[in-house]
Amino acid sequence: LKNHVEGRMVQQSDFDVQSVEFNYEAVELAENEIVIKLELVSVDPYIRGRLSAAKSYAASYKVGEPMIGICVGRILKSNNPKWAVGDHCCGELPWMEIFKFNGNRGIYKVNDKLVPLETYLNILGVVGLTAYHGMREIGEPKSGETLVVSAAAGGVGSIVGQIGKIKGCRVVGIAGSDEKCEFLKRELGFDAAVNYNSPTYRKDLRLACPKGVDIYFDNVGGKISEPIFLLLNQFARIPVCGAISMYNSAPGDSVGPHCQVHLVRTSTRMQGFIVTDYSKKNGEAIRELSQWIVQGKLKGKTTITHGFDQIIPSFLSLFSGSNTGKLLVKMDNTNQK
Ligand code: NDP
Repeated sequence: LKNHVEGRMVQQSDFDVQSVEFNYEAVELAENEIVIKLELVSVDPYIRGRLSAAKSYAASYKVGEPMIGICVGRILKSNNPKWAVGDHCCGELPWMEIFKFNGNRGIYKVNDKLVPLETYLNILGVVGLTAYHGMREIGEPKSGETLVVSAAAGGVGSIVGQIGKIKGCRVVGIAGSDEKCEFLKRELGFDAAVNYNSPTYRKDLRLACPKGVDIYFDNVGGKISEPIFLLLNQFARIPVCGAISMYNSAPGDSVGPHCQVHLVRTSTRMQGFIVTDYSKKNGEAIRELSQWIVQGKLKGKTTITHGFDQIIPSFLSLFSGSNTGKLLVKMDNTNQK
């Protein structure tokens, strides 16, 4: 990271890519150290928050230090009894191709014989747990209710909508293009999908929710949320998961919905949450999410880019909506789209 980024769009020049000689075969390992080769990098919107020096729920990145994020890596060399050469690990790792790491520091084993490695960064990773906990703890879906989800074609949103279908809801997705809306209906079984860039967005949304809205799972915040507040039913619930439309704005720049009057009118509960609020329930969540995968009820859609040099451009592309499903970068350097 070259500098902190405040109140503007993050860009490639905020980062520096450096080459450092590292001969892992020759390197000496202290007790518990391992050498990891990065295989899959998860690029996530929360990273934007950590690029700012402002206080947030996750610590700011330090200028001059390597970026870190949730990744899957393969062990190339080990001086740690827990890790064998060839094992795969998952956790917060630096964005470095090959590096030395303390094998006892916050990483866990993942097994590509059980599910593809991508799944550990998708349904069985942060996005799956966020969708699961947000829906279960705050959304509280009931059969016959209407669920609206924003950033619906993204990592969290696509899982939220599928959980809504499993629970018997009418599911309406909001996304930024007609192609994404088609994908939601055709591939994920959403009942309706609305393009927020269409001039008829407000009307389309009203038509898609003939019985009003019981749950609004908000990933986006800002002005696209405004018309949803007009449609809230009595005792609606709003899990506030994220506000990606505001992450690159200066404080005070964003146009927020004037929601309070509608929350009072409908006795709606609007509650922010962070996935780690419910960490104690992760075991239960992983079990149920895994069952849904096995039963064919939950599909993990991914967009995968290729090559170490694509990490930063892929992260930046989250803010223009390039991805459908969870956006991951594979370190295979084929550079195919
Ligand atoms: P996504 O895969 O959903 O990618 C981001 C998507 O957001 C884009 O594809 C784009 O889709 C949409 N988007 C980007 N900019 C805007 C904008 N200005 N207005 C409207 N939509 C926009 O990312 P994730 O699934 O990883 O994250 C989704 C949300 O969940 C984020 O807000 C993130 O911060 C939050 N989150 C919260 C967690 C928590 O613990 N509370 C944990 C994980 C994620 P489109 O083409 O439709 O515009």
